[in-house]
Amino acid sequence: MATNENHVKMLILGSGPAGLAAALYAARAELAPLLLTGAQLGGQAALTYTIENYPGFPEGVGGAQLGELFQKQAERFGTRVEFDTANKVDLSARPFKIQGDAGAYEADTLIVTTGADPVHLNVPGEDTLLGRGVSYCATCDGAFFKDKKVVVVGGGDSALEETLFLTRYATSIAIIHRRDELRAGAILQKRAKDHPKISFIWNTVVTEILGTGKVESVRLKNTQTGEESTFETDGVFIFIGHTPNTQLFEEQLKMDSHGYIEADMLMRTSVPGVFAAGEAADPHFRQVVTSAGMGAAAAIQATRFLEAESG
Ligand code: NAP
Repeated sequence: MATNENHVKMLILGSGPAGLAAALYAARAELAPLLLTGAQLGGQAALTYTIENYPGFPEGVGGAQLGELFQKQAERFGTRVEFDTANKVDLSARPFKIQGDAGAYEADTLIVTTGADPVHLNVPGEDTLLGRGVSYCATCDGAFFKDKKVVVVGGGDSALEETLFLTRYATSIAIIHRRDELRAGAILQKRAKDHPKISFIWNTVVTEILGTGKVESVRLKNTQTGEESTFETDGVFIFIGHTPNTQLFEEQLKMDSHGYIEADMLMRTSVPGVFAAGEAADPHFRQVVTSAGMGAAAAIQATRFLEAESG
């Protein structure tokens, strides 16, 4: 039984598509869920300029706008959204204990939708020039590169989508990819290859980001020949994948070797009463629609878990 307002039947960590979809379903099951947003309201999806593959939006929808719509819908049915980030959890006994930056909470069930963060290149200059030309988000920083020359690192969907977005501002964008074949889907590949502002530097990695106070160039190495060169640029946008935000649950929830939480097809983790959904538990699909679907499934299963307990 709830004894104080910070003891809830269901607590959801994360405000991306998985978290907000879970909140919607839990709220409609009258569980009055509490959702802690984490630092990135709306999750990674909110940093995407346009989402063209979320069903129901034939013209596409802004990432931040979709997040706001998700939140509004979840709140309409009784979700409480707190702008707080969990920094410690104790899953050893129920109710689970969650310590946030702004408060302490207890929860009968927990849904982990903490998502993932961009992988860094880990080359000299990357950290020191972050925000001075180095970026992991074109939607956030693209406008600073009006009439400038930038490079994008990576060959996946994110790299190409963000590159296409950058064509609004930059005069030219060179995509630096470590192989001679892109990983991205065919439609994005065609759009990028056909775009007059976009060029490709194949079989190449960035070994250093150079500049005094701001990015001025990158040092490159050809992966085939080993040849090194310097390429002048005003910005370096890095899109080389993601790592799950699951450090909080180390030694408490079973994870794979990359840190993704192991959840079964009912979204159950290794701890009864704890469910996981979205990119924190999904190295495979990582789409807004699949994350939202997993969030809904986790909430349905958590609801059943509580119902089974109450008889
Ligand atoms: P991703 O598909 O894993 O691609 C990462 C890219 O970065 C790959 O091209 C990889 O090269 C390269 N890379 C990795 N580590 C590197 C390193 N240390 N140095 C240089 N290059 C490196 O990641 P993503 O593009 O972020 O996409 C993640 C998931 O989200 C995917 O499933 C994707 O389909 C999905 N997504 C979908 C959309 C959409 O449908 N509109 C948009 C964005 C993302 P290799 O190719 O050589 O491995």
